[in-house]
Amino acid sequence: MAAPADAKSIAATDPGLAPAATLPGVGPALAETLRKLGIERVQDLWFHLPLRYEDRTRITPIRDLVAGESAQVEGVVEAVETGFRYRPQLRVAITDASRETLVLRFFHFRRQQAQQFAPGLRLRCYGAVRHGQHGLEMVHPQYRALRGEVPVEATLTPIYPVTEGLGQQRLRGVIDKALARLPGEAALELVPRELIEPLGLMPLRDALLGVHRPPPDADVAALLAGRHPAQQRLAFEELLAHHISLKRLRASMRRHRAPALPGDAGLRQRFLDALPFTLTRAQARVAREAAKDLAKRVPMLRLVQGDVGSGKTVVAALAALHAIANGRQTALMAPTELLAEQHLHSFRTWFEPLGVEVVWLAGKVTGRARAAALAKLAAGAPVAIGTHALMQDGVEFQRLGLTIVDEQHRFGVQQRMDLRDKGAGSGEVPHQLVLTATPIPRTLAMSAYADLDVSTLDELPPGRTPVRTVAIANTRRGEVTERIRVACAEGRQAYWVCTLIEDSDLLQAQAAEVAYAQLCTALPGLAIGLVHGRMKARDKQAAMEAFKQGRTALLVATTVIEVGVDVPNASLMVIENAERLGLAQLHQLRGRVGRGSVASTCVLLYQSPLSGLARQRLETLRQTNDGFVIAEQDLRLRGPGELLGTRQTGEMGFRVADIVRDAALMPAVQRVGTALLRQQPVLARRLTERWIGAAARFAQA
Ligand code: ADP
Ligand code: MG
Repeated sequence: MAAPADAKSIAATDPGLAPAATLPGVGPALAETLRKLGIERVQDLWFHLPLRYEDRTRITPIRDLVAGESAQVEGVVEAVETGFRYRPQLRVAITDASRETLVLRFFHFRRQQAQQFAPGLRLRCYGAVRHGQHGLEMVHPQYRALRGEVPVEATLTPIYPVTEGLGQQRLRGVIDKALARLPGEAALELVPRELIEPLGLMPLRDALLGVHRPPPDADVAALLAGRHPAQQRLAFEELLAHHISLKRLRASMRRHRAPALPGDAGLRQRFLDALPFTLTRAQARVAREAAKDLAKRVPMLRLVQGDVGSGKTVVAALAALHAIANGRQTALMAPTELLAEQHLHSFRTWFEPLGVEVVWLAGKVTGRARAAALAKLAAGAPVAIGTHALMQDGVEFQRLGLTIVDEQHRFGVQQRMDLRDKGAGSGEVPHQLVLTATPIPRTLAMSAYADLDVSTLDELPPGRTPVRTVAIANTRRGEVTERIRVACAEGRQAYWVCTLIEDSDLLQAQAAEVAYAQLCTALPGLAIGLVHGRMKARDKQAAMEAFKQGRTALLVATTVIEVGVDVPNASLMVIENAERLGLAQLHQLRGRVGRGSVASTCVLLYQSPLSGLARQRLETLRQTNDGFVIAEQDLRLRGPGELLGTRQTGEMGFRVADIVRDAALMPAVQRVGTALLRQQPVLARRLTERWIGAAARFAQA
């Protein structure tokens, strides 16, 4: 197939930039399928890396198989049985020299297929081993009949991300053709030698060949664990590409102008004088850091991270005061309605005495109320608080000067950009402040938030008492109920939190209603309240208010109370099904107690048996109250995806890098990234295009 002339000339300078369709055997149909995988050019194939490997370089004796692991076995068919138990199935028993039996089980099969398994036939199979009714089995293994000696694979088998209409085999063939066009090391390498050499990493060319086609003598264990030098070289480069792309995003945002918001000392003082507390030193410091940014014409890009209860809201309010003083609007966006409502409540309490109107805009605000809110924002109302409803089309600000996003880990960069694009008008963009309650481990912050400056609230307001945490099996529920009775009789208050993994408001609400009914029966005479996400905002508020004022002693709630709720007299919290929640969420919930001077307790009620991971989570919570320690542990146990939220994971979508495993590379990534951007911006751009492709366009935003 002849390539177009212009493609040829590009290919002459950089063969990686040639369209994938210039490869032999890649016609228009296949090119279209490849595009679904984000593959357009030859280099996209070079960097389409295996997700994992299958080890077919050896045969495992059946006796040595381990449930939960994948393996290749070879054996002779002993017995074949087709049957119908619940659904049709085919069972083939094979045995080998280790004289053990393995059952191959198929649920989808054709009659012909069943007939080919005659006793005596020799099979080679690859699959995941699990416990069956009669010993170990493989369900739907890959298999082939052997006639004569067939050598095992010489190398690990790479498994690539594929798509419908393109299987492993065929994709492997296309990648082989692309690899044949890999230029020499000098042409391939984009990072200047003097930057990469001191790191002692493997050359890029060897690394690519090594991960796509591991040689027979490759360190199999290292490859399977992602710790092979070839993978490390690529992980470094991938992290570098992401880092550079975030840095460029930052640079391009900072090329925009923002309104200078120096604020007003008098207004600020009136606000502080009216607060029922004085700022902690950390709050004062972080507010100063933000104030400095806000006074400039360059848009602020700042992340404020602080543990649960460290007082981020008042820092946000202080930033908003700058915009207010200078006639600009502030939009505060929270991920859930309840959290947004809490902010609304705080901001109204603080701002209305100063004559500053706070507009509410959430999904539930509809019809005439919505129209009125929109009109106010378009007319320049100073503060808007709400959920993602603030970002929707039709929401226009007259002159937005500051956006505040709470709980960043539940939004992504895109959301922040959308809100920014609500613009300050006349070519200006608003300043951005991001608040996160999940303290982010430093290495993770380096990779995920390279576009933001970070301020840390590393101090809690005075008067908090550490929470004692205990884990108790659900079978001892009665004792826990008794504990509540005693505590409430002493005038203390308690939370009972119902949790479900399902992200369904309805199911959560039902669970809470059931628990509420049970507790009302078990604790007659006790004033019990109920709050969940399906209740009307007014009823919710009323239930919260009753609890705040001590008219109810026990509050049964869903995880809606995870954020914002503040009742210092509440000193006992019971969390049901604690084993189902992640560390960060448990820590957030627990942060609702320990706010007064009485010693508080958190009871983690769990369903036995506990999985290993769940046990570790509960143990971590028992041992520490420190949000940073918990976040580090969370990262180790769950990986970065869950910590940052699914949206962000998709955005980060690493191919080889793992920001936990490869955290040690980050300081070098940062160093090389800075140097490359400064000295070789063109190479930096080519590097991000190589790794991030279409997503790199983001960086031009
Ligand atoms: P978070 O950082 O978890 O968002 P909040 O801003 O909700 O924390 O603050 C938690 C509670 O602490 C609120 O009731 C708030 O009024 C209170 N608070 C904030 N700062 C101080 C302070 N400096 N001294 C005493 N209480 C404070
Ligand atoms: Mg908060």
